[in-house]
Amino acid sequence: MPRRVWLSRAAGGLLGLFLPGCIGGRPRQSGADTRFEFERPQMGVPFRMVICGQDRAVAAAAAESAFARVEALNRALSDYDPDSEVSRLCLGAKVGVASPVGEDLWRMLVQGLALARATGGAFDVTLGPLVNLWRRARRRGELPADHLLAEARMRCGWERLQLDARKRTVTFLAAGMRLDFGGMAKGYAADEAMRVLRESGFRRTLVAAAGDIVVADPPPGQAGWTVEVGGSDLPGSPAARRIPLRRSAVSTSGDLFQRLEIGGRRYSHIVDPRTGIGLTDRALVTVLARDGTTSDSVSTAVSVLGMERGLRWADTLPGVAVQVIRLGEGGAVEVGVNRRWTAGVGGSKPVEGAPLSLSAAGAVEPACG
Ligand code: AMP
Ligand code: MG
Repeated sequence: MPRRVWLSRAAGGLLGLFLPGCIGGRPRQSGADTRFEFERPQMGVPFRMVICGQDRAVAAAAAESAFARVEALNRALSDYDPDSEVSRLCLGAKVGVASPVGEDLWRMLVQGLALARATGGAFDVTLGPLVNLWRRARRRGELPADHLLAEARMRCGWERLQLDARKRTVTFLAAGMRLDFGGMAKGYAADEAMRVLRESGFRRTLVAAAGDIVVADPPPGQAGWTVEVGGSDLPGSPAARRIPLRRSAVSTSGDLFQRLEIGGRRYSHIVDPRTGIGLTDRALVTVLARDGTTSDSVSTAVSVLGMERGLRWADTLPGVAVQVIRLGEGGAVEVGVNRRWTAGVGGSKPVEGAPLSLSAAGAVEPACG
């Protein structure tokens, strides 16, 4: 039996990996290739890379380059680091004055604003002031004061951002705005790490940033990387499914397990922009998509939209499969899936042994040699 490696408890999701072959850094032969694993704390989570290759030193050098890329992304995108590009941008920006931004920050802004438009503002990368208040509330165990919430809301709003694609600049239209890419940056970092591994010559790779996992071609002789998705320990919840994944990504969002509890109510670290309040419905959202940037951001967006609106919206996105597990007021578990989930991940039976690939056309990819 392959050994189970849990990845995302810390991220609040239930999503695991079954990695036959090398576990815990000890390589084991698998066909012509050996499996090498590398793990490092990055972006506040254990960042993990699995590489099928011939030579440990060559794989280690590729992983090193990929970790360096993630580190560089953190220096650009982290709102925890006061010296990051995004922190310096927000602290130094003057209202109405355009600021130039680097390529990664630019990509996040473009994708973030596209998602804000597509979700009617449910996904909003300008919620930094509110997210910070809720982070402090978590630390202190008390709700943010009303006047602080009201003040923070004045500093949020994706419509108060202006992008100039020709000059690659961003202009803030309100004072004190703070960008927060926490809902999408880990997926993007996993995509970028995988790109570096590919450019180093490795095609059979997996990159996992806690609850955001990206896979390329599968290990030799296998249909895919076996990933366990979409279950919870709650009574009445569906069991997690083990699905073979290749050339796709999976993310979980929501706080079924970890959230701030004050006065008998539980508040998520995901904020509803309409109210400024951390989400109070308990849900676990699992998203499969073509890349990690999409799976990560869509999972956060669906968490905010809620089951009905979220699933309806997900049906408009090509190659995106979504499952929502929600704990209702009375404690009953409700499960909803979009059309692509039913078609790709499974109806009543778990998909085991069958390749699943979420390409643009939704076609099953041919087996890899
Ligand atoms: P995830 O764990 O990927 O669902 O991302 C959660 C993170 O996204 C939070 O910790 C915030 O940094 C950020 N966030 C919170 N609320 C929103 C929102 N409504 N839209 C976009 N990002 C958000
Ligand atoms: Mg996310």
